[in-house]
Amino acid sequence: MRIGFGYDSHRLAEGRKLVLGGVEIPFEKGCVAHSDGDALIHAICDALLGAAGLSDIGSHFPDTDNQYKDIDSRILLEKVVQLIHNQGYKINNIDTTTIIEKPKLADFREQMIQTLSTIMQISPSQMAIKAKTNEKLDAVGAGDAVVCYAVCTIENI
Ligand code: MG
Repeated sequence: MRIGFGYDSHRLAEGRKLVLGGVEIPFEKGCVAHSDGDALIHAICDALLGAAGLSDIGSHFPDTDNQYKDIDSRILLEKVVQLIHNQGYKINNIDTTTIIEKPKLADFREQMIQTLSTIMQISPSQMAIKAKTNEKLDAVGAGDAVVCYAVCTIENI
């Protein structure tokens, strides 16, 4: 069994779509990024890659490469899951925390779990999506950024 940890953050700005956990969430601001800015998927990708000893998301999908411009991060996660399987591992479980001041993510949690567990070929019970505010502290608390953490375990097939 191997453990992986991932972190990602993105600035929030008007005129961008807010996509988290593969789900588009209606809100006045969205993530500023080269891709679609799905910080939750990016944190999960880094956790999975780290667990398998496969470096990080930036080395596999550089933000200087135009083929990843505005890319749907669900595609990146699919590619990462393929890499994990190719290394002879299966995903055991994923736990995540997203920190965002607004909007409330509770109404989208089930859809995120369905979307992500399907891509990762695991059951919904093998993953968790937790969300909280930053109690108005710093840029996250001011509503100007989102931060996501993910931990996973993988094991040999
Ligand atoms: Mg990112």
